[in-house]
Amino acid sequence: MDRQLEKKYTDRAVEIGRNGDVSALPELIRYLKMPSQHVRRLSASAIGKLAGLLDAKLAVDALKSMLNDPHPQVKQYVIKALSAYGAEAASALNDLKDIAANYIEKEYNRRDAEKALALISEAVKLKEQQTVHKCSRCSVNVVSDEYARSMKAFQRIYCSKCFDEVYLKRRNFDTEVELNKTIEAKSGTLVQSDGERLIADFLHENNIDFRYDERIRLIEGFAVRPDFYLPEFDVYIEYWGMDTIDYKIGMMKKQKLYQQEGKKLIPIYPKDKNNLSTLLKEKLFRYAPM
Ligand SMILES: [Zn+2]
Repeated sequence: MDRQLEKKYTDRAVEIGRNGDVSALPELIRYLKMPSQHVRRLSASAIGKLAGLLDAKLAVDALKSMLNDPHPQVKQYVIKALSAYGAEAASALNDLKDIAANYIEKEYNRRDAEKALALISEAVKLKEQQTVHKCSRCSVNVVSDEYARSMKAFQRIYCSKCFDEVYLKRRNFDTEVELNKTIEAKSGTLVQSDGERLIADFLHENNIDFRYDERIRLIEGFAVRPDFYLPEFDVYIEYWGMDTIDYKIGMMKKQKLYQQEGKKLIPIYPKDKNNLSTLLKEKLFRYAPM
């Protein structure tokens, strides 16, 4: 590029950045494509200076397209300019991660990409915290702590008050289950359904040691209540007897939780009652201790 022309454009880019001339963004974007690395570098810098004043998406997209500029110093200015856009530059996070992790990149670019990542991620987090979330039960606004806790436990948004109520309801459900244990199995164990009695009798007749409904543990806010635990096999058997939709949803979530926790679960359904003995023998054989 002609020296004089180059000087003209670099001076212009610096001037736009200094004056905060928002209407000149298209001009700067055009400069980003010029053959002179100095023009590209100073234009990127000027776009960074205009952050907060103009159409952020247009600016961020233009800067992002410069992250593979062949000249490392242009890249450095582009990275710095992106940081200035904070949460608006969230779409550049992956590209920045790539640069930070790439050994071929210049050391200073990797370091600056790392800084930009931290800065933009923090801005995104702050923006998320300022987002208003409403309780799905009573519609009051919830603060970020409540939001995080209820999403983790229930995958739904609850305020603290509703969180406690929902939690209590679940616990009462488990207490109710406890009160329903009225059927006596051969081993003398009191169970709560015909299906559970069949399982208890099978285990008793085959001299398999078991504990019934011993612990109620919470995994991620869900009450996990294994109907049967077989210590020799380290296996849980759960009888899914109730046929309501709510129960089925809980059932799938629970099965997933067992998987995540790396626990072995044999689920038994009402349809299995007819060939329970064959089915359990077959499944337990797989988990048999050596
Ligand atoms: Zn609420």
